[in-house]
Amino acid sequence: MTVADAAELYLRAVVEVEPQTGECLVCFVDRMVAEHGCDGSLLWSVRFRDLRSPTATALEKRFRGQAVRCDCMVLQKAYTPVREVLVRDVHTDELERPERMPPCAGVRRTNTRPCAHWRRSPMAGYPD
Ligand SMILES: [Zn+2]
Ligand SMILES: [Zn+2]
Repeated sequence: MTVADAAELYLRAVVEVEPQTGECLVCFVDRMVAEHGCDGSLLWSVRFRDLRSPTATALEKRFRGQAVRCDCMVLQKAYTPVREVLVRDVHTDELERPERMPPCAGVRRTNTRPCAHWRRSPMAGYPD
């Protein structure tokens, strides 16, 4: 596959992709980054916002203000899985993020908040 083909496939995926019913921003971004990867921008976050909550224009600004520049940083820096979904690593006995998150716990359709599986990361420290 050429680079141009790959880029075209990627773009097609972006255009066709939609959050599932009730799926929250963070679960959507998590699913998309797992399936399609991160292109170094807030591509999936913005896609979610455009489809579900086009008036939530502060979203990107808030992320950028926290130096969250791309979708994987949304998953690593802005939000973190709650304790209930973590799995115990058999080797280190530490609680770790599961390889795949459980299906989204659900939010109202136009909400850009995360579902019950995520909390704001202490590193991000945003006001509520
Ligand atoms: Zn990234
Ligand atoms: Zn969710």
